[in-house]
Amino acid sequence: MSNSTKYVFVTGGVTSSLGKGIISASLAKLLQARGYSATIQKLDPYINIDPGTLNPYEHGECFVTDDGAETDLDLGHYERFLNVPTSQANNVTTGRIYQSVIEKERRGEFLGKTVQVIPHITDEIKNRIQILGKSGEYDIVITEIGGTVGDIESLPYVEAVRQMLWEFENDCIVVHLTLVPYLADAGELKTKPTQHSVKQLLELGVQPDILCCRTEHELDLTLRKKIAKFCNVSMNAVIESRDAESIYDVPLLMQTEELDKVVLEKLGLSAKSTPKLDNWKEFLRRLKNPTSEINIGLVGKYVELKDSYKSISESFIHAGVANEARVNVKWIHSEKLSKSNLEDELKGLDGILVAPGFGSRGISGKIEAVRFARENKIPFLGICLGMQCAVIEYARHVLGFEDAHTTEISEDSKYPVISMMEEQKNIEEKGGTMRLGAYSCQLKPGSKVAAAYNTDKISERHRHRYEFNNAYLEDFEKAGMIPTGKNPETGLVEVVEVENHPWFVGAQFHPEYKSTVANPHPLFVAFIDAAIKNKK
Ligand code: GLN
Repeated sequence: MSNSTKYVFVTGGVTSSLGKGIISASLAKLLQARGYSATIQKLDPYINIDPGTLNPYEHGECFVTDDGAETDLDLGHYERFLNVPTSQANNVTTGRIYQSVIEKERRGEFLGKTVQVIPHITDEIKNRIQILGKSGEYDIVITEIGGTVGDIESLPYVEAVRQMLWEFENDCIVVHLTLVPYLADAGELKTKPTQHSVKQLLELGVQPDILCCRTEHELDLTLRKKIAKFCNVSMNAVIESRDAESIYDVPLLMQTEELDKVVLEKLGLSAKSTPKLDNWKEFLRRLKNPTSEINIGLVGKYVELKDSYKSISESFIHAGVANEARVNVKWIHSEKLSKSNLEDELKGLDGILVAPGFGSRGISGKIEAVRFARENKIPFLGICLGMQCAVIEYARHVLGFEDAHTTEISEDSKYPVISMMEEQKNIEEKGGTMRLGAYSCQLKPGSKVAAAYNTDKISERHRHRYEFNNAYLEDFEKAGMIPTGKNPETGLVEVVEVENHPWFVGAQFHPEYKSTVANPHPLFVAFIDAAIKNKK
């Protein structure tokens, strides 16, 4: 059987956190640079339907696509590397697989059969893998299997891969990512964990075609030969994946190792042109040779796990590069921020970002941080809950609305300046029910945001239930907090700015989801530019 789309499966062995997402994104980048259209898909072996209901401490940030899917943060890496938007189809969980099989069972679609992991769950997995392939948009689909080979929960995925390798043998390959640990006492790199993890894959009927070996030290010829011999792969398919200074170095490291060339050979595709990656290299050159340095405070309640703010910290890197500046992020725990330590924690910062979030934990620290930025004229960017905190702060301290709040936290506040959106009021289920995905926004000519975007019509991604309460619009405008971005259909306030401040912007949407290496996000670029000017 033949298939016009080619599939690359990326599995992981030995341990988690080896960087499958970055390897997948780097491979896709190289294939894209050779002229192939490639996309990446992540299969997550947990039972949640999507990560939208997960606390960021579990798996880090929840990334949101244009079509409103709440997804794994690896999709953020895919977009940042490829500069191509992903969608609902790019992230599938075990929960979603089971949900659709069970729904089919209830509709009677299995015609009296016993519904089983094999073939019903594995068929559903195979369908989900092929949705992107069948769309006709991609030459190559890279499917990253979450978890580590040998985990009970990833077994059905590995079995689906085994079946696809059997059914479409000329169109599928497996790249297995493993660890080659260094034993300091012995002064040696050890290949045994790699051998064992390949053995585990073989027990499940899958022979990997390529091994990416994560290592702290050089994999010399002898080690490569040994791995090739014991794991049944060709010598050129043993790829060294060295620890890198920046994730953005990885495509170039993979190019030196010829990962893309070997993948194309094994898939029977022509090499086309050699990737030049001139823009990518220029990005890296600027990243490593900044001409200035600034300190930005990121105020949030999940700062112990930096992955909770992955897209924001990557946006800082992109915007820093655009401004030739090194952006040092000071991670500030909103729960530990109070009037008494505010000055100590925030002084010396060139810019302050108040992060998105949910619930009351750390909210007063966020509001204090906004006040400090506003009063001390420090460039400020508030995102989603951060924007809502800016509105609350302004109401309390400029408008004199004493207990102004969001109804998310104080349902009977006298001044509900942030309140639940009308269409959210009758919703009871928590999963996938927020205002999600891309909405258009009209910017006010002459505003800081219009200048940043250099246009007055934009589209940005959302993830929230509460909104600026338009009953107070006039009060705010009169007092100098101006709505400079609105949804043209509904009149929802999407951006606020404070007059007589060097740069104070609150956005109800999430600009961080759209920043990429090729297109650093304009709001972040303008924020960093303001921070540099503020420093001078
Ligand atoms: N909790 C707020 C809301 O639901 C903000 C959400 C966010 O910051 N993503 O409106």
